[in-house]
Amino acid sequence: MSRIALLPEVVACQVAAGEVVERPASAVKELVENSLDAGATRVEVLIRKGGRAMIRVVDDGCGMDRDDALLCLERHATSKIRTGADLMAIRTLGFRGEALPSIASVSRFRLATREHGAEAGTEVVVNGGRIESVRDSGEAPGTQVEVRSLFFNLPARRKFLRTENTEASHVQHALHLQALGHPAVGFVFVNDERVVWQLPPGQSLRERVRDLCGATLAGELLEIPVTESADVRVHGFIGKAGVSRSSRQEQVVFLNGRPVENPTINFALREGYHTALMRGQHPVTFLFVEVDPAAVDVNVHPAKREVRFRDPAVVREVLVETIRRALESDRAKWTRTFAAPEPEPMPDIPSLIPTAEQVVLRRDWSEIPVRPPAPVERETAPSASAAPLGIPQVPSPPVPPPSRDFKIIGILGRLYILMENASGLVLVDQHAAHERILFEEMQRRMEGQGVPTQRLLLPITLEVGPKDADWITNHLDTLSRAGIGLEPFGGGSFKIDALPQFMRADDPPQLLRDIIDDLRETSAQTSKLRLGEDMIAKTVCRHAVKANDVLREPECVRLVQDLLACDLPYCCPHGRPTMIQLGYAELEKKFGRKA
Ligand code: ADP
Ligand code: MG
Repeated sequence: MSRIALLPEVVACQVAAGEVVERPASAVKELVENSLDAGATRVEVLIRKGGRAMIRVVDDGCGMDRDDALLCLERHATSKIRTGADLMAIRTLGFRGEALPSIASVSRFRLATREHGAEAGTEVVVNGGRIESVRDSGEAPGTQVEVRSLFFNLPARRKFLRTENTEASHVQHALHLQALGHPAVGFVFVNDERVVWQLPPGQSLRERVRDLCGATLAGELLEIPVTESADVRVHGFIGKAGVSRSSRQEQVVFLNGRPVENPTINFALREGYHTALMRGQHPVTFLFVEVDPAAVDVNVHPAKREVRFRDPAVVREVLVETIRRALESDRAKWTRTFAAPEPEPMPDIPSLIPTAEQVVLRRDWSEIPVRPPAPVERETAPSASAAPLGIPQVPSPPVPPPSRDFKIIGILGRLYILMENASGLVLVDQHAAHERILFEEMQRRMEGQGVPTQRLLLPITLEVGPKDADWITNHLDTLSRAGIGLEPFGGGSFKIDALPQFMRADDPPQLLRDIIDDLRETSAQTSKLRLGEDMIAKTVCRHAVKANDVLREPECVRLVQDLLACDLPYCCPHGRPTMIQLGYAELEKKFGRKA
């Protein structure tokens, strides 16, 4: 006995609706995508009771004639693709021809549409997938879709809807993305009679971001230089170095106009920011990526949230490079604002990396335990037999053109250097600044002759588990360039015989275990590619002795100069800011001098 039967059309639509229309927000998304595909310059969205009672989307797009108004409610009816080959090069937001019939099959649905220049429009009323009436209508050119009682005929689905507020906030989020993605289109959003936004058409992206996300965030953004490679074009805004969020809420990426979530892109952003991003934080981006539609598959998920790249490596590379360059270009501007003072004849200030003697002598410093340090003997880096004893003075990178734009005022809480510049007050976090300088210096030295080491008089044994032993064995070379001398003994045993000069030497095994723990944690969060020398440098710096607890003025000048000479001066290797500007405007506001 045959058991298979073709599903009636309405049921087939309801099945499809299960995938396309999850909740009011997904219906709104589909309807607005249609408006955008129809070339609308204004889109108005109104919802009642979180969209459960009603959703209305009105646009001034191309509209439809009567035949199309009926055909668009059939499954697989679309004006956007014709052949299988078209599927390989999709330039519109829609293409599946599923949204309208799906939505109409699970709601009380009304479509009113009119072409520009047509004498009359058409109104179609559908109830749970069944057409109830078709007649002329006198609405303005464009299209209006009204969706009432969503899921009224699918009680199981309706039960899954959350509170009105929750559903409304999902709708708002979906619209937020679409409005950001199309700043040239005007958007109005009305939630239960309350006008949430009224965004005029023809805005620039910066204006749109300001209107949707606030002036504060807009002020923290950096316009990225337009990047054009053969295959990928990128433009938009990213957060300045040190600007980040604990969630991905403000990490918005549009691929060919479509907001996407894609691991390749997420990794690339992280990698582009590298040390300019705080640990565990996410970048802020409003990024537009354009690729040849043939190079990306958007037909992965019915709701089109996911995309697949034909060649992810190319996209990754362009993004990493774009972000890196944007952050670097900002640095030039930054350096001008905080231009270092003229290098005055100064007493000979020691390098920030303290010598071994300093490390030993500075036992008063709170972070150094009072325990006597292991006996040390200074030696040069293992690979640099010709280097002079002590710390070879690495030639500083060129200092920016001298100017007298700021003045050091003093030190706050033994930690913050206070400076005055043209815009107001600048606070420098001494430790963050020191870590950044040390990190970049260490990076340079690892690329060159290696980091100067202190050789331990009595080598110390380190015992670790098999996994860590593997890791260490694979990285012996890099560790040695980072100034950590290790020799495998077999099993999980290693002999530690040297440490970088700026490390405290009182408990080397513990220090190494901490470093390995840190690296393991970092490697879980980062792509494997990043777990190279700079990761090690970053981690080792975190464990460095913080030199110069209480700085004298010339030392402060030196610190600020060294900081400004860094590649990424505005944040420490972990992405925390090194400097904060408190402008006059902000001070005046705080003192009530200005509204
Ligand atoms: P798709 O967008 O995947 O083509 P839909 O079911 O969403 O499928 O829409 C079917 C068709 O109806 C579209 O291809 C388009 O031609 C037409 N259409 C839908 N909404 C509008 C609109 N707002 N303005 C003009 N045409 C529309
Ligand atoms: Mg559509």
